[in-house]
Amino acid sequence: MDAGPRLSRFMPARHRRIGVSFEFFPPKDEGMEKILWDSVERLKPLAPDFVSVTYGAGGSTRERTHATVKRILSETPLTPAAHLTCVAATRGEVDAIVRNYHDAGVRHIVALRGDPVGGAGDKYAPHPGGYQNAADLVAGIKRAGDFEISVSAYPEKHPDSPTLEADIDMLKAKVDAGASRAITQFFFENDLYFRYLERVRARGIDIPIVPGILPVQNFKAAKNFAARAGASVPVWLAERFHGLDNDPTTRKLIAAAVAAEQVIDLFDRGVTNFHFYTMNRADLVYAICHLLGLRPVTQEAVQ
Ligand SMILES: Cc1cc2nc3c(=O)[nH]c(=O)nc-3n(C[C@H](O)[C@H](O)[C@H](O)COP(=O)(O)OP(=O)(O)OC[C@H]3O[C@@H](n4cnc5c(N)ncnc54)[C@H](O)[C@@H]3O)c2cc1C
Repeated sequence: MDAGPRLSRFMPARHRRIGVSFEFFPPKDEGMEKILWDSVERLKPLAPDFVSVTYGAGGSTRERTHATVKRILSETPLTPAAHLTCVAATRGEVDAIVRNYHDAGVRHIVALRGDPVGGAGDKYAPHPGGYQNAADLVAGIKRAGDFEISVSAYPEKHPDSPTLEADIDMLKAKVDAGASRAITQFFFENDLYFRYLERVRARGIDIPIVPGILPVQNFKAAKNFAARAGASVPVWLAERFHGLDNDPTTRKLIAAAVAAEQVIDLFDRGVTNFHFYTMNRADLVYAICHLLGLRPVTQEAVQ
């Protein structure tokens, strides 16, 4: 019996190298700290290319981001990438953070403009003495030291941007300033990503545009998050989660199925690198990586 056109063609990582990265946010309290480190421990054996740590809106997690990045560096074999924004800080303050990271041994920064201090939806105003936008920040980081720099990309356009073309112009400026990888905002329709990729390549941008995958652990939260981020939520997705508000077990199974379908389709269409928005939870991400053919490195080494 034919196992199905896609899964039967699907070959695990030994045939095409899969690269993954995992995004975490700095914990607010002891309980969240434990959840984060349990997740890091669980995902660590999958040997991600890097793990990134977000920077709270307006720099609100500055110390916690730094502490989390440093702990990853000192207590795990993982390569951390520190997110950094331009919001509410002078160039001097941002440069000091960058130098501090360099001194600690961090060599990868995810450089972002960041949301306005009042939150997404407010009009953005650069700090008078600060970096003006993400491209300006990328140039500043490049001047400060030898860093690998990743930036954001928006297959459905950033909400502040008048057009997708203007958005791609900003991506080009970030690449010209020294960014070597873009990670996309999450999306649920893969065609959006491929159409975007075509336009980005047509604009002469040749860095990897790594799809950001959000396993939907909580549909209501994902929907709110999507509304703020300008990402669309298809009707079919809402229908899949409809009626499951009080049924976390089924919700989790559906979430795994939805994310599996998405990454297998991306893989079948040539994508080999994936960035996972883990929300500090490992289970779904681990399962999806397993499906992609990733196995714990220790186990692989024994075979
Ligand atoms: C992978 C990823 C990681 C992220 N991590 C974090 C994080 O750790 N912390 C955090 O706070 N946020 C984070 N964000 C969210 C991000 O900070 C917001 O989306 C922010 O609003 C834009 O920052 P950017 O660097 O993505 O924008 P940019 O790429 O600089 O700009 C996005 C678009 O908006 C346009 N634009 C920018 N400024 C203006 C303006 N003043 N007027 C009109 N158009 C404008 C640009 O031209 C561009 O088209 C992340 C997003 C992604 C995709």
